[in-house]
Amino acid sequence: MSENFSIPQSRLGVLLVVSGPSGSGKTTLCRKLSDQGEAVYSISCTTRAARQGEVHGKDYFFLTEEDFVERIGRNEFFEHAHVHGKRYGTLKSYVTENLLCGVDVVMDIDVQGAEQVRSCQDALVKQCLVDVFILPPSVEELKARLAHRGTEGQAALDLRLKNAIGEMSRWQEYAYTLVSGSREADMERFRSILVAERMRSIRQPQSP
Ligand code: 5GP
Repeated sequence: MSENFSIPQSRLGVLLVVSGPSGSGKTTLCRKLSDQGEAVYSISCTTRAARQGEVHGKDYFFLTEEDFVERIGRNEFFEHAHVHGKRYGTLKSYVTENLLCGVDVVMDIDVQGAEQVRSCQDALVKQCLVDVFILPPSVEELKARLAHRGTEGQAALDLRLKNAIGEMSRWQEYAYTLVSGSREADMERFRSILVAERMRSIRQPQSP
């Protein structure tokens, strides 16, 4: 009997696109996944000022407005958007190189950025994309978390809360929805999505 199939020995990376309102806990989940060595964290560019303790090249690439706009002109961004009055964007090179090498990439981006990634016509991106929305347990809890963080002034906080309500109405656009509970349970469920998605037949290079 002849074997007319081969067993896949490698796979493409998963592009885990994660959205959710500020205060949903999504950044912590994405960072932890990366700290555990499960995926590389896609470091975004932004024009917002660095918060206390944030490091250029680790938390974000902090760019001037001019630099960001020049990069848009040079078509360097995979996606970019205005969020809370500032610019945020993901550089192309980083994402595709990792996916082709079978390295999973986790992107913490807003709903506009996720929409751009979803509508991307690049075959590699289509094959690798998995999108997840993180919801807080309630609006009251979200308000409490945002106020507790104390990283923003009142005006910025009000804007984040207003934007959060708008973003949350879009959870159904995502393949997965995770309603936040305890930190440990959230992390376990979040990791499970990635573990299962790695095994989808479409990720194996031999798929027709
Ligand atoms: P923060 O200023 O709190 O770090 O992030 C504010 C928002 O910007 C969050 O919702 C975050 O997911 C989003 N964000 C961070 N990086 C990017 C990016 O590269 N692109 C887009 N579209 N949104 C981003």
